[in-house]
Amino acid sequence: MGRPTEIKVRNLAQCLYESRYPVVFTGAGISTESGLPDFRGPDGVWTRRDKGLPPRSISTPWDEVEPNSGHYAILELQKLGKLKFLISQNVDNLHLKSGIRPELLAELHGNMTKQRCTRCEQTYDFSAGVLECECGGSLVSSVVDFGQSLPQKDLSLAFEHSRNCDLFIVVGSSLVVTPAADMPREALVAGAKLVIINQGETPFDKHADLRFYENIGEVLPVAVKRLKHLMGLFE
Ligand code: ZN
Repeated sequence: MGRPTEIKVRNLAQCLYESRYPVVFTGAGISTESGLPDFRGPDGVWTRRDKGLPPRSISTPWDEVEPNSGHYAILELQKLGKLKFLISQNVDNLHLKSGIRPELLAELHGNMTKQRCTRCEQTYDFSAGVLECECGGSLVSSVVDFGQSLPQKDLSLAFEHSRNCDLFIVVGSSLVVTPAADMPREALVAGAKLVIINQGETPFDKHADLRFYENIGEVLPVAVKRLKHLMGLFE
């Protein structure tokens, strides 16, 4: 790691140490190190489409895809009491698989392992084999398709925590899809610090207090390790 990056990582650890209300926001970029394609990265779905190429095929079955060091660094924040809330655009279930508590997570685009009640928004694992919600409503895939509205409960929780936080950390999102892209703005208006870890550009780059273009796995786990030292916890 170069010296400038090392200093920025130390700054990120310090921001986390001082924060009383850290919120993390993740996009597809956090899952590329688990072997899943993102959208606008160098080998992303849309980047390839723009070049006339089909999406890169995934060789691993979905349920065998595992969380990576970025997901586990966020889990570590949860264990340290340094994760008030996690907002994700991903449907890959990797945050829950890593051990994130469901009540700390908003999945804005749903979750491919879950169905959702069309009436009350209650979710059920597909594997549970439930055919009808206990409210009597019918169950559909929880994954939100383009043009469909987002789950209201997850959306309102995400906005609420964005407005309440004092540190908003974007991990692997290009922040171009609304309403998700409105959340860092809410956080900034409320006076929060903004940290962005993403290889590509985002519309919020000039507003970021710390901006990382490095791989997530080179930044977040190192910052969390440093944070543990600041908290007096040694491995
Ligand atoms: Zn229901």
